[in-house]
Amino acid sequence: MKNIGIIGLGLIGGSLGLELREKGFRTFGVSQREKTRDRALERGIVDEISEGYSLLNQCDLIFICTPIEAIISTVQDLIPYLKPETIITDVGSVKGKIVPKLSELWSNFIGGHPMAGTTQSGVDSGFIGLFDNAPYVLTPTEQTPQKAIDLMTEIIKLLNSRLYFCSPEEHDQAVAWISHLPVMISGSLIQSCLKEKNLKVLELAKNLASSGFKDTSRVGGGNPELGLMMAKYNSQELLRSLLEYRENLDQIIEDINNENWTNLEQKLKQNQQARPNFL
Ligand code: NAP
Repeated sequence: MKNIGIIGLGLIGGSLGLELREKGFRTFGVSQREKTRDRALERGIVDEISEGYSLLNQCDLIFICTPIEAIISTVQDLIPYLKPETIITDVGSVKGKIVPKLSELWSNFIGGHPMAGTTQSGVDSGFIGLFDNAPYVLTPTEQTPQKAIDLMTEIIKLLNSRLYFCSPEEHDQAVAWISHLPVMISGSLIQSCLKEKNLKVLELAKNLASSGFKDTSRVGGGNPELGLMMAKYNSQELLRSLLEYRENLDQIIEDINNENWTNLEQKLKQNQQARPNFL
């Protein structure tokens, strides 16, 4: 049986704790906030929890589940307390700016990213089943020890996630398209709706919004911190995808303006065909 440490007991860390405890692992958490420590114990996310990192010296694997901006400094602070064989992994939504630095700090490191989320955050948001059938991508480098890859492979299988491997750079390019760009597009949709000047129409739109709006606004109406971090830490790839998106939008505007229904219909048909390949 392996001892698993978790730092950052929010949606992802909390869900990992609940899931891994259920699978028979012992889980150990760290939080600076007393309220989080109490709730994490009450909810059964962890077996033990403390304010300081020394509790984690008994762990075989530690998940860093803090917001992206705190990942590197957290590992720097954690290192003095660890036994050398402990494996560290992170769950950050970007990899290119994280993986090289953490690999340098701790050789037993492997980057990871579970592609699962909700609009909720914090210690009360985690739940069993979040990772079920969701993709979980690992981004090992040439230096990543095989035992880190093997252990994470085993855990990801237990989470019932679908495992993928790629480089940190390929990860950031791919998630720009299917995760970071959608957050910005979906956010722009909400922003655009809020621009409606006729208050009666705005109120009516709010009342009429149903499943379509629920689907298309979900990722844009989520944790603002996460969207900001995607933009800050994956700016190059996000900008590349946003510019392509803007070009597509301009083409649609042009088609409608010119009443070029054949063009528009062709695109809509292509979308209908292509979508299942992404899901
Ligand atoms: P979250 O629900 O806000 O949880 C993050 C937790 O980290 C908070 O509960 C907080 O717990 C702790 N924390 C905050 N600032 C910290 C700091 N400076 N140092 C140490 N701990 C800190 O966020 P999340 O959605 O789980 O995201 C966590 C990580 O998962 C991020 O790196 C994100 O990129 C990645 N991720 C998120 C999603 C998603 O859709 N949400 C999906 C995949 C990956 P305390 O109460 O202890 O402060």
